[in-house]
Amino acid sequence: MQTIRGRLTAWYSTALACTLVAFAVVLFLARRSASYQDLDRRLQSEADLTAGILAESYRARGDLVEPDRSGKPVLISDVAALLEVVPDFLLITAHDGRTLFISADARALGFQRVEQLLRLLPPAVARRGEGTLRFAPSGQTIRWVVRPLPGLGPQFGGILAGADTKSAELGPEQLLSSMVLILPLGVLAAVILGSWIARRALEPVDRIITEVREITDGRSLHRRLAEPMVKDEVGRLAETLNQMMQRLERSFTALRRFTAEASHELKTPLTVLRAGVERAITTSGLPQDTLAVLEETLQEVNRMTELVDALLTLARADEGRAPLHREPVDLREIIEEAKETGELLAEQAGVRVSVETPPSPVVVSVDRSRIRQLLLNLLTNAVKYTPKGGTVRMALGQDDGQVTLAVADTGIGIAPGDLPHIFDRFWRADSARTRTGERPGAGLGLAICKWIAEAHGGTIEVQSRPGRGTTFMVTLPKPGT
Ligand code: ADP
Repeated sequence: MQTIRGRLTAWYSTALACTLVAFAVVLFLARRSASYQDLDRRLQSEADLTAGILAESYRARGDLVEPDRSGKPVLISDVAALLEVVPDFLLITAHDGRTLFISADARALGFQRVEQLLRLLPPAVARRGEGTLRFAPSGQTIRWVVRPLPGLGPQFGGILAGADTKSAELGPEQLLSSMVLILPLGVLAAVILGSWIARRALEPVDRIITEVREITDGRSLHRRLAEPMVKDEVGRLAETLNQMMQRLERSFTALRRFTAEASHELKTPLTVLRAGVERAITTSGLPQDTLAVLEETLQEVNRMTELVDALLTLARADEGRAPLHREPVDLREIIEEAKETGELLAEQAGVRVSVETPPSPVVVSVDRSRIRQLLLNLLTNAVKYTPKGGTVRMALGQDDGQVTLAVADTGIGIAPGDLPHIFDRFWRADSARTRTGERPGAGLGLAICKWIAEAHGGTIEVQSRPGRGTTFMVTLPKPGT
């Protein structure tokens, strides 16, 4: 389960399913015990009803015992017929223990079982006993009550009313059938309800995630999350995140200011240094090795000036202090200008430069010098990373309200694993050669290209195959087309 919502729903449904099962079992046990009590009451009233019938008959007719065909005393037949209507098992005995009446249901139990029941009577009569009798081996269980029969003449002893407990029992099948009905419905309701509750509960967290995601880059750190009025867990989370962002913003600002100020402070001494070295180089009669040292120094100073310029550009861009001076520009002009510089570089490197532009003007409102800087960065890289004999192609195109600038080379290419990093600041595929190698650089050029493209509302993408070449594609929006 990937989401807290899913997990909450699962826990909630499981908890509800367990509660339902426990509830059903408790309900089942409670109902079973209640139905045993009902059975006892029923037997008691059956015994009382029988005693009542016998008392009535005795008052009306006197003696209720007559000899049967074998001469044994039995209940007179019309009273016996009346008692057959009483449900369950009914046994009536004489005071000497002989049987006066056995109901049809009781007779159906069989001789042995009736005997067992009859044996219960004498000890229980005096104390109106009751109990449960279990017949082995079938396990049939009889619940019984016994009451005396006083006032019916000297013959009568007691009466036993009994019933099979099965008539009052709730079998486990009944529990199962109710569970089969209740459980799926209950669990389904729990899943729907649980998922709804979890979604509602986690909605504010989702909102915070979306807002924080929108503030991921350093430039949006001034934004804050909306803090709910209620200071619950989510409210406190938003508050804590806001405090954290405030601290981050402060350190980011301090860092940017430091970089901008340091680069700015370095600019003047570097200019002075360069002027000094340039003047020294032109001094006549310098020994050869001094001249070589001065040239190397000048090269380093130039490289450092470029680095400081790049740092200052990025620091100002981060601070929002690098506004674009937009004006309508035919991009073909910029490409032609860049081509001239590119051709100079390419000639030294033994690389051919070609340009493809549409015949009609491609006018877009851009900052001319920034777009030139972007193109030159890409072009310089393309020449720098293309071995002798290769080609660098610049192409300008437009369609669907956007303009595309492509710089493609047949150079060394970029490894797929490096592609996600190439727009990062100070990132270089071959960092060991940063200063000394045949391809010097500081790793800031592409970061500046990305900023320029994005500041114009555009994008920059790269496609590359190691050993085959690289294509950078800049897309700029062209409003009004
Ligand atoms: P650098 O000053 O090192 O060229 P960039 O930011 O311009 O810095 O480029 C970053 C890294 O991207 C380079 O070090 C290089 O490894 C890779 N790269 C840029 N352009 C190309 C290209 N056209 N061909 C191959 N690799 C390139």
